Amino acid sequence: MFKARRSLIRMRLSDWDAMIAELGARGHCIKESGAFLLANIDGDPRLISRVVYFDDLDPKCLKGGIHFDGRAYSKLWDVCKNEKCKVVGDVHTHPGTQVRQSIIDAANPMIAQKGHIALILPDLGCHSIARYEVGIHRYDGGNWTSWTGREAKKRISLRRRFP
Ligand SMILES: [Zn+2]
Repeated sequence: MFKARRSLIRMRLSDWDAMIAELGARGHCIKESGAFLLANIDGDPRLISRVVYFDDLDPKCLKGGIHFDGRAYSKLWDVCKNEKCKVVGDVHTHPGTQVRQSIIDAANPMIAQKGHIALILPDLGCHSIARYEVGIHRYDGGNWTSWTGREAKKRISLRRRFP
């Protein structure tokens, strides 16, 4: 059943699958890759309507790990302005099954705004990924709240369509 109140991130199933395929392809299954997750300013703030890949903003950022150049944020703000979107989260891949944050991940939120969501996907995004395999982390200002496994699954809503 769809539990609207619990889900922190909502995505159309086709968008979710396309995003994972894209993340896997961009990292060539050997490097981490990632993206910002945007929602329409006027719509459901949890429904991801646009995915902006890190390497489209900073072409040199995929170095095994991700080293995103802070100067590339201006391009992200341009997308937000032009498409009337706002950043509500980000996603990046890890090798293997570990979807907890690294010390570097936790110390460096991509957007240090309370409520910002960071998803971590396993296996460099090189196969389709179910919700319970994802790590979901919410920035609470200074520290993070994290969910994995069944608790992560509850907080990600994937549907064919949303109203
Ligand atoms: Zn990481």
